[in-house]
Amino acid sequence: MGFFDPVAGFAVTLRQIFKRKVTTQYPEEKRTKPQRFHGRHVLNRYPDGMEKCIGCELCAGVCPARCIYVRGKDNPADEPVSPGERFGFVYEINMLRCIFCAMCVEACPTEAITMTHLFEMSVGDRQDAIYTKTELVMDPDGSVPHPQPESILIDLAELRQGDGWMRATAPAGRAAYEGVGGWTATAGVGMREPEPPQSPASGPQSLEESEEV
Ligand code: SF4
Ligand code: SF4
Repeated sequence: MGFFDPVAGFAVTLRQIFKRKVTTQYPEEKRTKPQRFHGRHVLNRYPDGMEKCIGCELCAGVCPARCIYVRGKDNPADEPVSPGERFGFVYEINMLRCIFCAMCVEACPTEAITMTHLFEMSVGDRQDAIYTKTELVMDPDGSVPHPQPESILIDLAELRQGDGWMRATAPAGRAAYEGVGGWTATAGVGMREPEPPQSPASGPQSLEESEEV
């Protein structure tokens, strides 16, 4: 049976008191998130207000958690919702099942779906965790409704942060194309900032040149 030495015990406590703390006083104090942090999704618009989602269902097909439900519909000829033939008529993500892997973002051909830095998504009713177009599609001013916005946990500015990982993984995200047409704005939010150590001064190169890099 071990002998309890109170002096040794308190020595451990004293040593820990003066060590640098690794915890923060969350939620009052939040750590800076990496640019590629995977928070809740948004559905983006083009600067002219059109929805980027074309209802192709690729995101739903690739989702390993099977938590996306999309139904496409033909665009009305007189009042199209998105460029092209179809738009996302129904779009739902069950956030209780999502594993935040970002496969949906990677699969999307139009960069319609992206992930933000906001991860506080607690709800009192399971039904509220199913985000519909109401919670997902950005308003033309670049904001998007978020459940429980009055909570002290919620920093709505985090809805405007994210997307950094796309430059590294999407073909159009090569450093050579940074700041160029392919990386247009998330509607209402402006151009995405370059991700260090990339530089906006790198400018476009020809496809052949960028292949050599
Ligand atoms: S982040 Fe992953 S699990 Fe979540 S909706 Fe996208 S593909 Fe599905
Ligand atoms: S979010 Fe992207 S991948 Fe999903 S249906 Fe819309 S356009 Fe297709």
